[in-house]
Amino acid sequence: MRRIVVIAALCIVAVAPVADARGKQVAYVGGHPIPGGGWCEIEGPHVHLYAPEHATELYRVTGGRYYFVGDPVPFGYHGDKHAYAGRHPIAVGHDEAWCYLDGPHYHVFAPPPHDKFVERGGVEWYVGERPRRYRIDEPRYVTINAIYKPLVYARPVIVVAQPEVVVYHIHHKHKHHHHHHHDDDWDDDDD
Ligand SMILES: [Zn+2]
Ligand SMILES: [Zn+2]
Repeated sequence: MRRIVVIAALCIVAVAPVADARGKQVAYVGGHPIPGGGWCEIEGPHVHLYAPEHATELYRVTGGRYYFVGDPVPFGYHGDKHAYAGRHPIAVGHDEAWCYLDGPHYHVFAPPPHDKFVERGGVEWYVGERPRRYRIDEPRYVTINAIYKPLVYARPVIVVAQPEVVVYHIHHKHKHHHHHHHDDDWDDDDD
């Protein structure tokens, strides 16, 4: 009986490799930068004995696991990638999160199933609404741009104009629409 309990305890440790109380194992899902340099190419859930760098800005944590949500290219990633222009929603596990990277950048992942992404010239633009949570979380995550600003790497080249945001309002019998642009000013060089 006692032996069974011990075996059961070992199984729990084996199947739930989330960050443990001693801080030894840190759980990740998918590829991510390796502290000190390089790119971890392991797909799916895995663990390391190190904590991520820039954990707040470059990762989202769901189910006790770190998901890298930044641009992998400056960290040495050479695999398939998707180009984006500006901020957009992302899928993290079963949750929706937001990418606060301004300007052209890459992700390993494709846009989440969403009818508010417009692909132009091989670049994905998000043209939908931004929920309240986007604004609430913005101060916490927007500093990701300060991390990427000094990184020198080949960013996606935008060769077409930004799609206009079309918001439809239906008032009684009359349907009209108006256009407005995002408030991102990533192409304004104000520094
Ligand atoms: Zn890894
Ligand atoms: Zn992004």
